[in-house]
Amino acid sequence: MTLTDRDRAVQAALAQGLVGPRQPVAGLLDVAGIRRSAAELRAAFAEFTAPGAQVLHAFAVKAASLVPVLRLLAQEGIGCEVASPGELALARAAGIPARHTVLDSPAKTLAELREALALGIAVNVDNHEELSRIDRMMASAPSTAPIGLRVNPQIGGGSIGAMSTATDTSKFGVPLRDPGAREWIVRACLDRPWLTRLHAHVGSQGMPLERMAEGVRALYDLAEEINEQAGGPRITTLDIGGGLPVNFSSDAVTPTYREYVALLRSAVPGLFSGRYGLVTEFGRSLLAKHGMVLARVEYAKWAGGRPIALTHAGAQVATRTVFAPASWPIRVAAYDDAGRPKTGAPVPQDIAGPCCFAGDLVAENRPLPRLESGDHVALLDTGAYYFSTHFAYNSLPRPGVYGYAPAPDGTFAFATVRTPQTLEELTAESGADHANALRSLALG
Ligand SMILES: *Cc1c(COP(=O)(O)O)cnc(C)c1O
Repeated sequence: MTLTDRDRAVQAALAQGLVGPRQPVAGLLDVAGIRRSAAELRAAFAEFTAPGAQVLHAFAVKAASLVPVLRLLAQEGIGCEVASPGELALARAAGIPARHTVLDSPAKTLAELREALALGIAVNVDNHEELSRIDRMMASAPSTAPIGLRVNPQIGGGSIGAMSTATDTSKFGVPLRDPGAREWIVRACLDRPWLTRLHAHVGSQGMPLERMAEGVRALYDLAEEINEQAGGPRITTLDIGGGLPVNFSSDAVTPTYREYVALLRSAVPGLFSGRYGLVTEFGRSLLAKHGMVLARVEYAKWAGGRPIALTHAGAQVATRTVFAPASWPIRVAAYDDAGRPKTGAPVPQDIAGPCCFAGDLVAENRPLPRLESGDHVALLDTGAYYFSTHFAYNSLPRPGVYGYAPAPDGTFAFATVRTPQTLEELTAESGADHANALRSLALG
């Protein structure tokens, strides 16, 4: 059997003890793969944009909120899209310059807005109330931070409701097709010389590319209308968001950035004319294919005639997959105790996690070589949104995350991205320092 790089990385991770009886689950990231995707993203836009056009690719930090990942991407020329004080702190810890950072959150506080304007971070305003706040801030302390308005083009949703940000009633941005909204947006931009950007992120996984392009088209048309009325380039930059879907059913990378940009090029040719600076905010498509969760099979059992593998990867690391399995199915690869790919006839079986609720399954009735205790499962394509959406159910600790790359001696070198959470840290987060707090309150 020929081994893939992924298979060999699993073997090396087990040989080096990153996953074993004491640390039964970890995340692994393929560093070369992340670099490759970043390069493909840059190349796709570079190929289609006019020479000299300003393009900032800002990685959506929520997809992998890990400082070493942000810094790796920065080395590849990619900035950060942040949506909370925590994400901004991570971007700053990674050394991302303010001019490569974009703040998008639907509920920014006054303090967050003040900080962003003071730092010169690009801010995308979500709604009319937030715009009034910025008006007051600009009047008292003018800032040169780029400011944009998030627009919801209301072009409809995709196949996953929770991921669809451009429905009629989506909570994000100013709804472009509501009565009077377009006129309000145009006026708002004409009245404010510092409001120079428009932003739309029309949704993530499950959205057809054509619909995404329709959203970008609506954004572009709006910018053209504003600039025409302004008699000059008032809107100078278009932030087209992220949302390129990821294929979770095989190793194929599809759609590619190039396909999406080519489609945008034909749907919105003016976007690439160089008259507008561009910002993108891809998350999932940069990281998903380059990560896996590797977990030990603790026990193998039967129930009602069905084999069940009890592993250490469940809802705590694969929250969306466990709670919405129809929307977020993932591939599972089976390895033996030494990390060799399991062979043998596929048998439908449940791959269960360690959480104490019956639905804690990452795959149900999945045909795989029969798993036994001491084997391992790898949850594939989990590089985005799996290491950043830990679910603290059952006080299961956040697992370690390690980056890997081929070493000169033919094996793999690993670097720690995040240390496994210790029980001391977990206890402290659960109020250990306040152990007596409730007892003494009751005595008062
Ligand atoms: C989540 C999000 C993104 C990234 O979406 P992906 O599907 O991961 O590419 C980009 N922009 C905004 C505003 C987001 O909320």
